[in-house]
Amino acid sequence: MPGLVIVGALGRMGRALQEAGLSAGFPVEGLVDRPENAGTPSPVDGVAVSCLSDWRECIGAGRVVIDFSSPASTLALCREAERHRMALVIGTTGMGAEGDQAVAEAARHVPVVFAANYSVGVNLLLELVQKAASVLDARQFDAEIVEAHHKHKVDAPSGTALMLAKSLAAGRDVFLGDVACYGREGITGARPQGQIGIHAVRGGDVVGDHTVSFLGEGERIGLSHMATSRRTFAEGAVRAAGWVAGRRPGVYTMRHVLGFDPT
Ligand code: NAD
Repeated sequence: MPGLVIVGALGRMGRALQEAGLSAGFPVEGLVDRPENAGTPSPVDGVAVSCLSDWRECIGAGRVVIDFSSPASTLALCREAERHRMALVIGTTGMGAEGDQAVAEAARHVPVVFAANYSVGVNLLLELVQKAASVLDARQFDAEIVEAHHKHKVDAPSGTALMLAKSLAAGRDVFLGDVACYGREGITGARPQGQIGIHAVRGGDVVGDHTVSFLGEGERIGLSHMATSRRTFAEGAVRAAGWVAGRRPGVYTMRHVLGFDPT
């Protein structure tokens, strides 16, 4: 089993990742967090290493880095992949096009799993939404996405909502940028046919709720996922770490890890 290096180790996900890694039998060999947190012992029983301020101190052949930290930290890690040569599992969201580019660059040198959501249920939902969108014609069904997250989340809409929107657009064979509507306010006019609405709710301790609605005349269909624990994301990311070790360089998603996409 590959040794795990966890970046963002003292965060909400970092802690869940240490617990999930340990219980799946992976050695947790490196913890990285902000410089001001260097030297902090792991808060998880059974993890003997303390936090470092720099992932360069954790470089080791065969190790897999799981990064759930911040865009700046993840972009730096990706851009130096040629040097560290460690497989990556990236969960940080909110990096936009710059993140896609940095991941593609890293993937020239190392294998990278990149997913805005590591839960098995959400990845199945992505498949179901694409199928539903291909059957429920945009002339008869209006599609809207509503997501809710805890009040500490810094990006909106969630990376998962964006993935769901892309699945919807793919099912309808349209480009998301042409049909997306991020929230509404004021005199908006009637809803254009084919629009995909995306809305973010923030508050409390919500781990992550997503609902895709298809709203027709006389009927409505809703497809929902509710995460009640961060452990579900952490277990998916640890599963991805076991899968990605030793693969060829390239960008992979949870579809590959779960066997939905054999390419
Ligand atoms: P958090 O704020 O609780 O933790 C982030 C941690 O990263 C903190 O300990 C912080 O000190 C550390 N960090 C920040 N900048 C750093 C740097 N430059 N170097 C080293 N460490 C640094 O946040 P969280 O709730 O754990 O979420 C972290 C990220 O993971 C967010 O982008 C979030 O949206 C994403 N996330 C993804 C999934 C998924 O399944 N892909 C699930 C949950 C959260």
